[in-house]
Amino acid sequence: MSKNLADILVGRPFLDDLPESAKRSHYIISNSNVPVQNLEEIATYIWNHIHKAKIVSIFTGFYCKSGYETDGPVGALILAEFFLQTKIPVQICCEKELLKTMKSIASELSLSEFIKFTPFENFSANKNSMIFTIERPGENSKGICHTMDGYKISHSILPIESEIKKNPPNAWIAIGDGGNELGTGYYRNSIEKVIPNGKHCICGCKGGITAYNKADRCILSTTSNFGTISLSLELAKQNNINWNVPENKVTQIIRSLNKYGIKDGVTGEEGTVDGISIELRKKMYDLLNRLF
Ligand SMILES: [Zn+2]
Repeated sequence: MSKNLADILVGRPFLDDLPESAKRSHYIISNSNVPVQNLEEIATYIWNHIHKAKIVSIFTGFYCKSGYETDGPVGALILAEFFLQTKIPVQICCEKELLKTMKSIASELSLSEFIKFTPFENFSANKNSMIFTIERPGENSKGICHTMDGYKISHSILPIESEIKKNPPNAWIAIGDGGNELGTGYYRNSIEKVIPNGKHCICGCKGGITAYNKADRCILSTTSNFGTISLSLELAKQNNINWNVPENKVTQIIRSLNKYGIKDGVTGEEGTVDGISIELRKKMYDLLNRLF
């Protein structure tokens, strides 16, 4: 991967300013004992598999202390818009309350009316499907999903993981930032080493927060939103698609999510994602956009 892109993806140009919560992908990637997966290769892999997919399914939603967080839904909506721009049908799937919010936001912001919002009971994976899981809770080796601070998630979680196991899709891409997200198990050894609670959680299951299962491809980034948007830009570049994601679009979606009570998963505040200030977010997206 171009060194610049790899560095920007995990926030290396901003390490002095990033909060600890947004440096996790940098720690994991820097200590990885398996070859780091490459965004350019992942984009090529997606395009090589996409013709077999009748529809792209995007799962998102991580329930934190008192509600869903802003990391995940922003990237999911933007990736959905990207696929529709290329005339590929797309559906967003998540827990009912978040699904309702995402649908309302898409309509308020006049995002494409062709994004489908599919309740899980109407979803089924099959060998023709392409699945993205963006900032979704992932089971550890004991089958338990955890928050970053090491507790078991008590809020109900859709059984996406068992559905994927039962009916493996044609391609499954996972996007995360801290190593407790579904599909990020490829980096398991490094996550257990460098992420607090990675090996030893607080809930007592003795499995740590590290997600066990591996997606076909895995992207780790400062935030899952940032990783997802970077992927959309790389897909566009490789396939000569006219596409850009200005930072103010990201800000607009965050504001809309806040109105529905969806907040920063780390600080619980409005306006931000994973504790990254609005000023720093602008700098990060500006740098990303200059690269593409
Ligand atoms: Zn546990």
